[in-house]
Amino acid sequence: MEKNTVLMEKCKKIALVAHDNKKKDLLNWVKKNNEILKKHKFYATGTTGSIIQKNTDLEIIVLKSGPLGGDQQIGAKIVENDIDCLLFFWDPLESQPHDPDVKALLRIAALYNIPVATNQATADFIITSQFMADEYERNMNTFEVYYNRRIEI
Ligand code: PGA
Repeated sequence: MEKNTVLMEKCKKIALVAHDNKKKDLLNWVKKNNEILKKHKFYATGTTGSIIQKNTDLEIIVLKSGPLGGDQQIGAKIVENDIDCLLFFWDPLESQPHDPDVKALLRIAALYNIPVATNQATADFIITSQFMADEYERNMNTFEVYYNRRIEI
């Protein structure tokens, strides 16, 4: 039987994504929290990652740009337990060419029970949580019901 928790280590693997109108907000937030963030590891979509890399000393694994598949790469890493936390400053006032990918990323993050910040206030709450500096056992659905569903063929 599959284990139903995932151990998130002290050093968290954090994904950073920001839509164009939110990139400045995310960069400012990262700069403000640089001392805490330095203890963690980062992935980011292409443009977001390049901007943060250029303006901070954080080491970031930069993936494809969001509209070119970067959101989907992050989603795949969540499925593989390679990402513990998603900071995704999406833009509620503008539609995106890759809106289906945005929805898919938020869906996968919810399904795999990872903490998600979609705005600065939530990011503040996450970064100041005691679980950020400690190990955390994340409950993980084994999807047994899903796997055991009967399919008549
Ligand atoms: P970007 O992608 O960092 O390459 O701009 C973000 C997104 O829109 O998903």
